[in-house]
Amino acid sequence: DFQLFEEAKWVIDTLENNNHKAYFVGGSVRDYLMGRALSDVDITTSALPDDVELLFGRTIPIGKEHGTIIVLGNNQQYEVTTFRKDGDYVDHRRPQSVQFVTDLYEDVARRDFTMNAIAMDTSYQLHDYFNGYQDIQSKIIRAVGTPLDRMEEDALRIMRGIRFQAQTNFDIDPETLSAMQQTAYGLSHIAIERVIVELKKFIQGRYVEKSIHTINRVSVFENLPFFNKINHRDMFVPLESNFEMWIASLCFIYQIDTTELQQLKISNEEKREIKAYIDIFNFFNQDTILKTELVQLIYKYGNIKVKNCISLIQQHERQISIQYDPFIMNLTIIDNIYDKLPIYNKSDLSVDGKILMQAFNRNGGPWLKVILNKVEHAVILNKVNNSKHEIIEWVREHVEI
Ligand code: ATP
Ligand code: MG
Repeated sequence: DFQLFEEAKWVIDTLENNNHKAYFVGGSVRDYLMGRALSDVDITTSALPDDVELLFGRTIPIGKEHGTIIVLGNNQQYEVTTFRKDGDYVDHRRPQSVQFVTDLYEDVARRDFTMNAIAMDTSYQLHDYFNGYQDIQSKIIRAVGTPLDRMEEDALRIMRGIRFQAQTNFDIDPETLSAMQQTAYGLSHIAIERVIVELKKFIQGRYVEKSIHTINRVSVFENLPFFNKINHRDMFVPLESNFEMWIASLCFIYQIDTTELQQLKISNEEKREIKAYIDIFNFFNQDTILKTELVQLIYKYGNIKVKNCISLIQQHERQISIQYDPFIMNLTIIDNIYDKLPIYNKSDLSVDGKILMQAFNRNGGPWLKVILNKVEHAVILNKVNNSKHEIIEWVREHVEI
């Protein structure tokens, strides 16, 4: 799958024609050599950011002070970054300052793992100073240079290394692993948002089961907010889960209050999603489940989320400690209920506030919301058809206004 490189060649050609050096580098070269689907193609160059802006018609200075300019063309965007080495590291975080350099070697030497430090030119020649290709072939994740120094500099690399393992099933080189163990305390200095980016990729990784051992051996969770509430030795890491479901299952299993989610600095949207999953777990945790309540649950959260939770419960019945009931927790039934719902949200109702005000000859006010909620409920449970007339009749008969 070299189509993406072919399409990006013109960027490197343009730079080279103007006497700069330029190479493909990083994740795309790694994924290409591993036979994986390519993500975005990144380019590293000796050209300074100003030169890059001058050479290309359409650019975005997305991280200009760090050397990164986005070049647009062919309906694609390319991150073009000037060769650089990093300034001093303080507090195990990436440095604020960078220094532009003229040598490819210095640029790849600052990168985290050998498999991420391979440059490739437009004739597919590798410029592989740290034997990254050999490590890929031997399925090894190895820090560039002295592992202890590199993990000490930037503890995020611990997370990156472990999520690469979850994605690739590679082994972590023993010296690199030992360096991770010795520097894990540095994780508490990293902005939690950046850790979460990696944890999301980790939990979606195909081989997450293997890397959960690494997480434990390195004591990752002990050094992270929220996660440190949980006894890490039996930390629940479900297969084929997504981040929100995972966090929700942790809250459910370990009875963690959702206010603790604050520490993860996740978006309100994600928090809503997590709370939805917790709600669904709690629902299925009841002794008796009423069909009418199941219908309401599916209406509220949609069939996908409900089915996701059911699959998780089915696969991890014991850990989640919810009894899997094949009659109620049946994916086909959930889909059928969802497909047969007469409405999918309030705006699907054939009455609204205005219509009700006219029908009952009253001014607006809190009564409207009360009635609309009752109507919504009745329509979902098929007590009344979703037609204007029938709803108004139903309201006259059943609700005191
Ligand atoms: P993905 O395929 O998930 O994007 P990636 O390796 O491309 O993985 P990016 O965050 O896109 O990850 O980073 C691009 C490249 O920048 C990496 O391949 C690596 O060479 C370098 N890099 C990224 N983060 C670090 C870091 N914390 N320390 C050193 N080098 C890094
Ligand atoms: Mg990338």
